[in-house]
Amino acid sequence: MDRKDFFKTSFLGAATIAAASVGLTSCSPSSKKNDPGLKLSFQEGIAPGESLSEKLDFMENLGIVGFEPSGKTLVSRVDEIRDALKGRNIKVSAICAGFKGFILAEDPAVKAEFDSTMREIVAAAGELGSVGVIMVPAFNRQVPCKPHTQETRDYLCEQLHELGEYALSCGTTVILEPLNRKEAFYMRLVADAAAICRDSQSEGVKCMGDFWHMQEETSDYGAFMSAGTQYLQHVHMASRGRRLMPGEDGEKDVYFDGFRALKEMGYDKYVSFECGTKGERSKTVTSAVNLLREQWAKA
Ligand code: MG
Repeated sequence: MDRKDFFKTSFLGAATIAAASVGLTSCSPSSKKNDPGLKLSFQEGIAPGESLSEKLDFMENLGIVGFEPSGKTLVSRVDEIRDALKGRNIKVSAICAGFKGFILAEDPAVKAEFDSTMREIVAAAGELGSVGVIMVPAFNRQVPCKPHTQETRDYLCEQLHELGEYALSCGTTVILEPLNRKEAFYMRLVADAAAICRDSQSEGVKCMGDFWHMQEETSDYGAFMSAGTQYLQHVHMASRGRRLMPGEDGEKDVYFDGFRALKEMGYDKYVSFECGTKGERSKTVTSAVNLLREQWAKA
């Protein structure tokens, strides 16, 4: 590196540190005053009940304000979901995947399947006012997959840019979900997903954190802060030992660190249940909601 390059690099480094400091300052503990409250959401299988309206009644009684349906049958259910939510204090939160194929498929036919089905779901999500459609670039089991190289990352960002711009035109976003390494080694950390959002250069590309998969993280607080409100669009919730209702894994089910970050950031999107239960659903779900509200208040 010659002298000129050295100064250029040093200047950029200083600018980056300065920018980071500004970000940290704006996220200081005093921003707890901006706590927008814990907005809880349920995936469709969480609440007990035979029908969607029974489930929504149960949710409403518990003060749940978000509903996260699967993308699988969303296109044909737009009217049904809209009607079911009419007059209730519950909105569609995120849409959980449901597309066919995957974005990093080697086979052009599989990639084309992803493109068409994902865009249909994104359009339906926009009609329902959803915060975004959750996607994983490639599960470990999805093969053949483009190799894990710089070229593939560049390709992913280009493809996401197009998809993000399309989602914006529909009034919604696409949300990258990092998973644990057993499911998707490609993208495991919230910070990595956030960096892909940044490099995709589209306001329509966002990311999320899932407390279950966040076992990969060294810090829940650091993970959420690394995305910030600029990129963090959704959060998934589960117990931290067996992916059951929060509380079913006893002392492991501690969310203070992550909640503190969300409060300090002024995160105003949803925290949505994605988990099973070993107990009687109406009881375990209710206890979980109470536990999370207690921890949020103390965080
Ligand atoms: Mg999840």
